[in-house]
Amino acid sequence: MSIKIHDSAVRRIVQLETAEPGRVSMYVCGPTVYGFVHVGNARTFVWFDMIRRYLIYRGFDVTYVLNYTDVDDKIIDRARLEKITPEELASDCGRAFEQDMAALGVRPPDILCKATDHIAEMVNAIEGLVDKEFAYEADGDVFFAIERFAGYGSLSHRSIDDLRAGERIEPRASKRHPLDFALWKSAKEDEPSWSSPWGPGRPGWHIECSVMSVKYLGMGFDIHGGGSDLVFPHHENEKAQAEALTASKPFARHWMHSGMVQTESEKMSKSLGNVVVAHDVLARLPGEVVRYWALSSSYRSQVLFSEPVLHDAEQGYARWKTFFDAARYALGDEFPVRPDAPVRRVGEEGDGLVARFIESLDEDFNSARAFATIHDLVREGNKHLDATQRGDTEARATLIDATAAFLELTSVLGFSFTDTNAEGSGLRDQLIEYLLELRTEARGEQAFERADAIRVRLSDMGVVIEDTASGPRWRVSDEGR
Ligand SMILES: [Zn+2]
Repeated sequence: MSIKIHDSAVRRIVQLETAEPGRVSMYVCGPTVYGFVHVGNARTFVWFDMIRRYLIYRGFDVTYVLNYTDVDDKIIDRARLEKITPEELASDCGRAFEQDMAALGVRPPDILCKATDHIAEMVNAIEGLVDKEFAYEADGDVFFAIERFAGYGSLSHRSIDDLRAGERIEPRASKRHPLDFALWKSAKEDEPSWSSPWGPGRPGWHIECSVMSVKYLGMGFDIHGGGSDLVFPHHENEKAQAEALTASKPFARHWMHSGMVQTESEKMSKSLGNVVVAHDVLARLPGEVVRYWALSSSYRSQVLFSEPVLHDAEQGYARWKTFFDAARYALGDEFPVRPDAPVRRVGEEGDGLVARFIESLDEDFNSARAFATIHDLVREGNKHLDATQRGDTEARATLIDATAAFLELTSVLGFSFTDTNAEGSGLRDQLIEYLLELRTEARGEQAFERADAIRVRLSDMGVVIEDTASGPRWRVSDEGR
């Protein structure tokens, strides 16, 4: 088994090499829970969900850790505006994030860790860095001294001088070097704070990820992921802190970064004010369509979020869904069981289109090619629909195989067609109710033949009707499902 990934630390495609054979440990920087997640961020989480599913499919045991940044200036400011506590805001936004992720078919992480549950560990880590003189205290704040850490800038491939020229730096008299960053911030009035050797305060953002990733996965865990906007300073700082503290390398074996999402020509980020929040998008489009949009282009590419590309996604997904429905109708009881997500294909590499699908995703998750393969599979399956309905057993066997492969591959990509059927079942139920009303009316008019015809037709479709004192009751039999 050979999976290649683009490692952003070395900026090229490399073989995925894990600390333990057969296991992958992944840490992905999660949301700062102060508002709805924007669609660019949502795409990152959809992508890492898909990478996790694919690694499981290829036989790895995956441990996936995601964090919530639940203490931060933005949370404090927003909570103040909304006149609620930062904890309330963070927990509301965490819930909203989980709803959006569920709608997008993103599975919950194996371990979800919150910054505020790890303050003591962060204080310990900061003390360790101060002891080793990688950090210093100044007026109740603690800063990481970047010049003390050889190799600062190596992840983002920039020298300290380049970084200094490129970044807007808050001048702070107490800092020894303008790029030194806060590990601990002394508390201002009315701010949430915790006690520490440097007085009451709260941790800076970067230290939480160093501490929590190493706590749950250990130094040298396999994949650190996030959006490409996090490379500097966030990931550079995470790496410096962890490697300085433990005096060991590497912090993470591989780094994977997803491309940014653009609306028209601007990079989408909250600071630009051209934000499209996933929650609004999901209110008007099915999660499956947004997932299709997110995954149909390489995770590394910069992608456009616009009406025309969403329309393409809608049409692409509709082709899959139409095939799913048609095959289900044509195959009836022989419709293959949808595999429990995430499926696992160990040992054999599959054949034909399945092999091509695997080959595509083994190559740094080339999803465009994987999607094309599924479309080929659908085209193949569609060819055999009519003959299957005419009773051609050979066509039926081919269609069953194509459908089984289709269900396997789409579930690796995280598409579950049952969800949209559940939405559709509301309409189904209403139609059954309406037919029952017509039957009751017919009986009222003594038109027993017509009433009976309705009962028989419904029964043929697997709808069992039971007449009770309070009117007819119905259920769908197992064959009708
Ligand atoms: Zn992080």
